[in-house]
Amino acid sequence: IATMRDISKTYTDVPVLDRFNLDIAPAEKVVLIGPSGSGKTTVLRTLMTVEMPDWGDLAVDGVTLHFGDRLGKAPKTSNAVLRAYRSKLGMVFQQFNLFPHMTIEQNLVEAPIHVAGMRRGEAVDLAHRLLAQVGLSDKVKAFPNQLSGGQQQRVAIARALAMNPKVLLFDEVTSALDPERVGEVLEVIRDLSAERSVAMLIVTHEMGFARQIADRTIFMEAGRIVEEGPPEQIFGEAQNPRTRAFLGKML
Ligand code: ATP
Repeated sequence: IATMRDISKTYTDVPVLDRFNLDIAPAEKVVLIGPSGSGKTTVLRTLMTVEMPDWGDLAVDGVTLHFGDRLGKAPKTSNAVLRAYRSKLGMVFQQFNLFPHMTIEQNLVEAPIHVAGMRRGEAVDLAHRLLAQVGLSDKVKAFPNQLSGGQQQRVAIARALAMNPKVLLFDEVTSALDPERVGEVLEVIRDLSAERSVAMLIVTHEMGFARQIADRTIFMEAGRIVEEGPPEQIFGEAQNPRTRAFLGKML
């Protein structure tokens, strides 16, 4: 359902990704782990096109973006294609990123109405269903600063789902939370992964969660995939000494 092909990304002379390749199957749950600075967040941000790759191709659900290769840049992607591509992805960030001046309901209906062209009544119904799903029906009229971090993050997940993405990206979504709030957010993601056919690409430092939720775990270091496989393999019998060293520190 999603492909990153030969993706390269350099920030001010520092190459972070060098011909990075990743394929995600429909409904597949992929977890990315690796040391700080290994490029995990950059993988998510380039797939999301929050950061534009320097080279390579991205594709989600039949919409492809070409950035060219070392022989030449591809022609600039039209805004219509870029919009179509982005509409297939949803992202949840470490710092919730809710609109602070809007109620929870307004946060959820904003994109369905203004980006997807949904009627208001329909968008409000959808918002209420999604808030019920993440256990926050009583917060419809609240503002983000009246919610705990864990609740805000659950709203952010509901907001991402409101656009019905094919792939949901989670970037260390529990790192900014108080320890006692981590569990409720992980539980919402686990429930979703069981119920929904949406694919997920998850960056996390929560190794227990990674092991539970992943269909496939990828260990990366210095912008490259070192080892990947089913969680039983990576967490149980990793072959690569660098994977073992990393997990030895984390577990
Ligand atoms: P962490 O687990 O600490 O979040 P990560 O694996 O997600 O790390 P990235 O955030 O993708 O790693 O960063 C990879 C490298 O790119 C790091 O060396 C980082 O300093 C650098 N980097 C990331 N974003 C930028 C930026 N906007 N400008 C310059 N360098 C950046």
